[in-house]
Amino acid sequence: MSEVLSPAASVQPPKVGFVSLGCPKALTDSELILTQLSAEGYQTSKTFQGADLVIVNTCGFIDDAVKESLDTIGEALAENGKVIVTGCLGAKTGEGGGNLVREMHPSVLAVTGPHATQEVMDAVHAHLPKPHDPFIDLVPGAFGEAGLKLTPRHYAYLKISEGCNHRCTFCIIPSMRGDLASRPVGDVLKEAKALFEGGVKELLVISQDTSAYGVDVKYRTGFWDGKPVKTRMLDLVQSLGALAEAHGAWVRLHYVYPYPHVDEILPLMAQGLVLPYLDVPFQHSHPEVLRRMKRPASGERNLERIQRWREICPELVIRSTFIAGFPGETEEEFTHLLDFMREAQIDRAGCFAYSPVKGAAANELPGMLPEALREERRARFMAVAEEVSTARLQRRIGATMQVLVDSAPALGRKGGVGRSYADAPEIDGVVQLLPPEKISKTLRVGEFTRARIVGAQGHDLVAVPV
Ligand code: SF4
Repeated sequence: MSEVLSPAASVQPPKVGFVSLGCPKALTDSELILTQLSAEGYQTSKTFQGADLVIVNTCGFIDDAVKESLDTIGEALAENGKVIVTGCLGAKTGEGGGNLVREMHPSVLAVTGPHATQEVMDAVHAHLPKPHDPFIDLVPGAFGEAGLKLTPRHYAYLKISEGCNHRCTFCIIPSMRGDLASRPVGDVLKEAKALFEGGVKELLVISQDTSAYGVDVKYRTGFWDGKPVKTRMLDLVQSLGALAEAHGAWVRLHYVYPYPHVDEILPLMAQGLVLPYLDVPFQHSHPEVLRRMKRPASGERNLERIQRWREICPELVIRSTFIAGFPGETEEEFTHLLDFMREAQIDRAGCFAYSPVKGAAANELPGMLPEALREERRARFMAVAEEVSTARLQRRIGATMQVLVDSAPALGRKGGVGRSYADAPEIDGVVQLLPPEKISKTLRVGEFTRARIVGAQGHDLVAVPV
């Protein structure tokens, strides 16, 4: 059975089971719904059977995710019977031209698309009236303005916008989530402040396109802390960095495209205001493939840009994702990608073999490659990526780094697990912590420790807390 999420709740039934599938953006939608449920006095159940109703937040990005979501809905229907579906899959059309989820599971109570807290709550109210206890508490307090979080207490995702103005040919996100809609800068900063005050030590900024923040509202001037702040990436990152500095916390930027204005962020990284870490989904290097993908910032000279970034901030770590075997990709275009990997020295890289997503424009492109060839190219890419990543990790041996502790049984006396600025949670490696040098030193989850790097193992580093 899929794991049913259960944030801390201290109130009485009615009970709602909740399953959250998909990416960090879907996770923040789940957090909004769970916060609202909790604010209205609903309790959450750890099992489908123990719930009065189940909400499934789905993912519809690739075919495997669609299958997982449909299977989970089927499981929830079989075990509970009362199911509300939300998320990206809820916005998809099925073979018969109707709603895909309804075609596959006609007995679901309601279906919404992503980012639809109010619609989900309306459906919950219709099938499971909210409790009327006037003494029921509001949101459980740790994060105040920021609501309930599904991540461990010491790190949190901060979503700064919804949707996307691009139309990459392999992607159906804009058809599910719509065009870019930036959150007001004051609201974003208010949420960040509440998170830091609640104990968050690492804030992960997410969106579909972080570098485009504010384009939709023409970089409108908002207000924060009595001062004007523009709805713009640079201004947001400056303000987040200042807030983080005051709380001794980290800010990590995800989904940044290599537009020229991103260069302005690098000095802030060099100063230590935000982590010198950029998650830039390049997807490919060859201009022709990028053109067929209709990638944003594809005309930019990415190699030169990366070199310039590293000149400004030599500590910079770059994470990226790529697609191997895109329709029409020639061996020469693929070799270009391997050369790019070696030259750009991408620290952390993930790669998908191209897989057609229902509804994506790329399916109509000529030159679909056989699956075996797509997989073979992915494997060749990953071999190069590992070579680069291993060499870059080896260079850290002997250095002392700041590590955020994620796990430390018995106060870390036998060691633990943490991450350095080079490791985002869930997607990158970790720092395996050995028992501390000094017997008196302890480690605590959510606290920082200095650690001397003594080795590298696969994607991870091994270190001794000092
Ligand atoms: S930038 Fe491209 S891949 Fe990313 S969400 Fe927008 S359309 Fe999809």
